[in-house]
Amino acid sequence: MFVGRIKILIIDRVSEKFVKQLADKGFDIDYRPGINREELENIISNYNILVFRSRMKIDRDLIDKGHNLRILARYGIGLDNVDIDYAIKKGIAVVNAPNASTISVAELTLGLIIMIFRNLYNYIEHVKRGLWPKGKFIGRELYGKNLGIVGYGRIGSRVAHYGRALGMNVYVYDIRDVRNDVEKIGGKQVEFDELLEVSDVISLHVPLTPLTYHMINDNVLNKVRDGCVIVNTSRGEVIDTYALIKHLDRLGGVALDVLEQEPPRDEILFQLIHHPKVIVTPHIGAETVEAMDRIADELYNSIMEVIDWL
Ligand code: NAD
Repeated sequence: MFVGRIKILIIDRVSEKFVKQLADKGFDIDYRPGINREELENIISNYNILVFRSRMKIDRDLIDKGHNLRILARYGIGLDNVDIDYAIKKGIAVVNAPNASTISVAELTLGLIIMIFRNLYNYIEHVKRGLWPKGKFIGRELYGKNLGIVGYGRIGSRVAHYGRALGMNVYVYDIRDVRNDVEKIGGKQVEFDELLEVSDVISLHVPLTPLTYHMINDNVLNKVRDGCVIVNTSRGEVIDTYALIKHLDRLGGVALDVLEQEPPRDEILFQLIHHPKVIVTPHIGAETVEAMDRIADELYNSIMEVIDWL
């Protein structure tokens, strides 16, 4: 049982609706988006619930300082910045909103694929500079091309549907047996190597785990087709940045919503970002009005469920 008023600290930007829902329940809420690590360490012991996004590492050190923590609430999906095992060992519940951003991330992925195939970023940039480069960057259609989906979960399966709707051939690699589901939409589950060899576009939708860390590396990139397009809206660490840069000349284009280092600081990241074949968005997969709204509801419900049985 919680004793006294529940105190909640929110350390990243969240929707007003979410804050209001919690405030309406009479909880004490401190909204400190952007708070730095040192400040957080100094005050975390005052709170029962910590709400955060992907910016802060919720590691052992921080968890140990949160003497009164009962719930870690990730405002979004990815839990790779949380030491979940340790939190659970300390009796702290970990909740997130795994379904809320699926549609938004899948739609962004499709947008990025089209952006690359039609060279839209080059055209847009030239026209903004007052030029009219008609015919300079001839694009390619998606129709009839092979779409390789790595990770056929919530987001990957939706991207696969979009690909099928556009007349693409869908190839899926997943550690789970998803053959039946994939075949239902007219796709094919294959081994990783086969996916690498056949795909015109490879779209990454795996969680970050020890198995998926640098899953796209030099060895793997050696196997992809010349002109293959790589799209990553999952987690930056799934791709080895150095290997990707090494293979850029052979690739058709790269679109990334996530980087190994966010925001980028190291020279290697800027080398990637400035390359003419690469487009980068600043981790905006879930940044839509609708996803934000759904995250607020899903996370609020999960927090309330945990509070009910604490
Ligand atoms: P999910 O858990 O529903 O699906 C992940 C799939 O990957 C599962 O089918 C799983 O079996 C498969 N998988 C796991 N390890 C694998 C491996 N080693 N090899 C092959 N397949 C493997 O996850 P989801 O909701 O679809 O999210 C996918 C990714 O998108 C995650 O990395 C998540 O963090 C990321 N994401 C990004 C944003 C963004 O803003 N860009 C927003 C939300 C989610």
